[in-house]
Amino acid sequence: MSTVRPPSVPHLIGRQKHQSPPCAVRTNTNPATGDVLLEVPIDDVDAAERAVKAAADAFPAWSRTPVGDRIQHLFKYKSILESHIDELAEIIVQEHGKTTGEAIGSVRRGIDCIEHACGAPILMMGRTLPQIAVSSSFCRTTDEGGVGIDSSVDRLPLGVCVGITPFNFPLMVPLWMWPMAVACGNTFVLKPSERDPASAVRAMELAYKAGFPDGVLNLVHGGPAVVNHLLKHDEVRAVSFVGSTAAGKAIYTTGCAHDKRVQCMCGAKNYSIIMPDANREAAIDGVFGSAFGNTGQRCLAGSVVVAVGDSADWLVPGLVERATSMKVGPGCESATQMGPLQDKPAQERVLNYIESGVASGADLLVDGRTHAMPDGGCFVGPTIFDKTAPGMSIVDEEIFGPVLSIMRAASLDEAVSFVNGSEYGNMSVLFTDSGHAAHRFESTVQAGMIGINVGVPAPMAAFPFAGWKKSFFGDLHTNGEDGVRFFTKSRVTVRRWI
Ligand code: NAD
Repeated sequence: MSTVRPPSVPHLIGRQKHQSPPCAVRTNTNPATGDVLLEVPIDDVDAAERAVKAAADAFPAWSRTPVGDRIQHLFKYKSILESHIDELAEIIVQEHGKTTGEAIGSVRRGIDCIEHACGAPILMMGRTLPQIAVSSSFCRTTDEGGVGIDSSVDRLPLGVCVGITPFNFPLMVPLWMWPMAVACGNTFVLKPSERDPASAVRAMELAYKAGFPDGVLNLVHGGPAVVNHLLKHDEVRAVSFVGSTAAGKAIYTTGCAHDKRVQCMCGAKNYSIIMPDANREAAIDGVFGSAFGNTGQRCLAGSVVVAVGDSADWLVPGLVERATSMKVGPGCESATQMGPLQDKPAQERVLNYIESGVASGADLLVDGRTHAMPDGGCFVGPTIFDKTAPGMSIVDEEIFGPVLSIMRAASLDEAVSFVNGSEYGNMSVLFTDSGHAAHRFESTVQAGMIGINVGVPAPMAAFPFAGWKKSFFGDLHTNGEDGVRFFTKSRVTVRRWI
């Protein structure tokens, strides 16, 4: 057995790499091969303290820098990232297990967020209403009825903001947060997932090349001890979290108790509803891509499909045929359609859910345990259960893997009642040719993101993104107008000239 330790991933504080002193570490491996990649420090709380201090020291000058100057760094960063897409995608494939196409797509969606943040001079703009009232005291123009009072609202930066991000989009999700935060004049500390932090580290090193001043952008690694230090820190003003519902609930509670502004985009169980009149090819393609894209490790994975009426007659065979012929393998191979799960515990969890589905009496139409796939690594093939129902853990719980549960409903209303019975409410989609059905769905379904004839109503940088119910804790969603509001505070000025 080798005694050579893998490299330790550095913190990035004040534009410098910092190696942790000896502390607890997590060893990360390539999920397709099991090869050891790197060690991640887990409880280096001192690093978190230094990162917050660097960000707090940088805040006064950065927040005074004109917004038009701040975004010049983002313009530059966008072009640097564009010339490093392949390199960043390769890191994601190696550490996370995505296919190359999925990894490239995730970097591009992240770049969209940078483009959006470049609009900060317009997005942050305040509003004015002249002559909102008239003052008759202390004025020399009484014959005109007094001087006017004007009122305006400005949006101002908050201070040090923190981002806590999940493993499933290790580069893209941080870009939902920090470009807008810093464009609005805040400074930032990112705590990426300890499971695959290398692409976030490389992306931040590239941001330093774009010229952001010392301390504006910082990155620290760690687990709950580090997160809790950040959540309780006096200098931290706002915390944006993306991850599981259990962690999000705890982070929301602790952050709010320590007077932070907090938004938590959390876990999900998403339903696709298929009407008999839907375009068959588009529905099968949409449901399949939604369930198995990113190996089902997506908060927008449509992991339950409800077949209304006789749509199951063509939907079920179509899905089974696609799943059976799916090529599962390492994400770096061009023929691969689905990569591995991200680590061994994730693979174990998904295998346990498959066993639980069988035990609960659902029909196992496609068994991902017996799919043709490489040995070793964290592979599970696409899995499809039919005749599933609420009350089964494969229907009620977030599996976060390539397992699709099929339910049947007699009507659209019954199908929507299944969606609304879930404790989650991240997304739901409907495939139909009927405007009436689409309207009924839109007016009754309870989810933060909904789609009509699309498999995944994906986040767009210019629109707010988050779920409802236990998929979200907070007030303002991420991205879009909500993102600008989350990273700024408003101030109203009332003025008169005497
Ligand atoms: P996770 O909750 O395990 O980890 C997310 C982050 O929180 C990590 O940085 C982790 O270090 C930290 N963390 C975990 N437990 C913590 C604790 N007890 N105290 C403090 N910090 C803690 O999530 P994950 O497994 O990395 O990501 C998958 C989850 O994220 C899924 O539930 C998925 O649905 C969700 N997700 C949601 C969205 C969304 O927009 N709603 C997007 C992507 C992923």
